[in-house]
Amino acid sequence: MNKASDVIVIGAGVVGCAAAYYLAKRGVKVTVLERREVACGASGRNGSGARQSGRDNRELPLAMFGVKHIWPTLGEELGEDIEYIQNGNMRLGKTEKDREALEELVRQNSSLGLDVRMVYGQDIRELIPDVSPEVQYATYCPTDGHANPMRTTLALYKRARELGAQFITNIKVLKLEKVAGRIRRVHTDDGIYEADSVILCAGFGSRKIMRTVGLDVPMLPQLTEAFVTEPIPAVTDKFISAADGCFYAQQQRNGTWVIGGDSNYEIYDATYPREVTFSFSAPRIARFFLEYMPTLKGVKVIRSWSGQLDMCWDGSPVISPVEEVEGLYVGCAFTGHGFGIGPAAGYVLAQMAVGETPAADLSGLRYDRFRLPSH
Ligand SMILES: Cc1cc2nc3c(=O)[nH]c(=O)nc-3n(C[C@H](O)[C@H](O)[C@H](O)COP(=O)(O)OP(=O)(O)OC[C@H]3O[C@@H](n4cnc5c(N)ncnc54)[C@H](O)[C@@H]3O)c2cc1C
Repeated sequence: MNKASDVIVIGAGVVGCAAAYYLAKRGVKVTVLERREVACGASGRNGSGARQSGRDNRELPLAMFGVKHIWPTLGEELGEDIEYIQNGNMRLGKTEKDREALEELVRQNSSLGLDVRMVYGQDIRELIPDVSPEVQYATYCPTDGHANPMRTTLALYKRARELGAQFITNIKVLKLEKVAGRIRRVHTDDGIYEADSVILCAGFGSRKIMRTVGLDVPMLPQLTEAFVTEPIPAVTDKFISAADGCFYAQQQRNGTWVIGGDSNYEIYDATYPREVTFSFSAPRIARFFLEYMPTLKGVKVIRSWSGQLDMCWDGSPVISPVEEVEGLYVGCAFTGHGFGIGPAAGYVLAQMAVGETPAADLSGLRYDRFRLPSH
């Protein structure tokens, strides 16, 4: 095991595996340190949405970069079927309040050039015939899609390893250490690793690690749930969700539906036993879902699971170099929508670590935005 590298990546989720892949592809000597197993965090257990629409405009340039330049060719590039499809995303609404929120999203997102539009009434049923007649408003972004999260993360990991990246699992990063103002050492429960640069993308775990060099990002750990149904004949190829976030859902290639959302009983507690599910979460989300897709009543749920999110105070991620600690790059606080931008986030973090200008505008995602006066 080699304890000296050009770059250390902390966390082997989709962001860390992508960063490692893009670095290894450039011939950079990279070591990934992962507390548990590759893809064991949110990246291996998410709802698979790779959408641009509905994102805050601060992260939209990165999402659009990913959909234009990364997702469509990623599977082929990695030599794996990551089940990426680009059949569009629809956010559904029933009330006037929903309509206002959806129209505002369209205004915001289209101001940055995203092709996202409002669809009303019967036109929604042309796109999703089974939707409830109560649904009267929807956003539609035809270039949004979804991919298999586990396959995507593992494909990035596998290719990164083939290109020479070193992955060390079951090792916990405890603290960072600067030498002469620059990041140098990463202390773990199995000794000290050294590198010229460090990419920190350890989900909520990033907060504790950042604090060891005097930094912080206001985020909370949220335990959230999803479930999968038995396979049924094709209903819709669109990724759908509710305007108020009570559910999101998509039917996969094998006919099963993956469904998740906010039950509003989510637990915010990092010390809670990891990844447990509760008897009320899946039924609540299923009930919300059936209010929008009533014809799916009676379809059996075969499995449910949970995962931990790194919920940022302002709802957008931090993807940023750190001025106070030269050589440290942070990618965390993805707030429940980091899979869709995960490969692109890994790409730009790798660019930063080799001194290149990131390919997308990340100016709204800086780590120090919370320190700036709000008015
Ligand atoms: C149920 C669910 C549904 C979701 N649905 C979607 C969706 O549809 N679309 C979407 O875009 N996003 C979705 N997300 C969010 C998305 O999965 C995450 O934002 C994304 O996977 C974050 O990737 P990551 O690499 O930053 O984090 P993770 O995959 O959580 O990886 C972080 C890694 O860091 C490791 N780590 C932590 N602390 C340490 C330490 N001290 N030392 C070493 N390693 C450490 C962890 O073990 C973990 O493996 C969902 C998440 C969940 C849970």
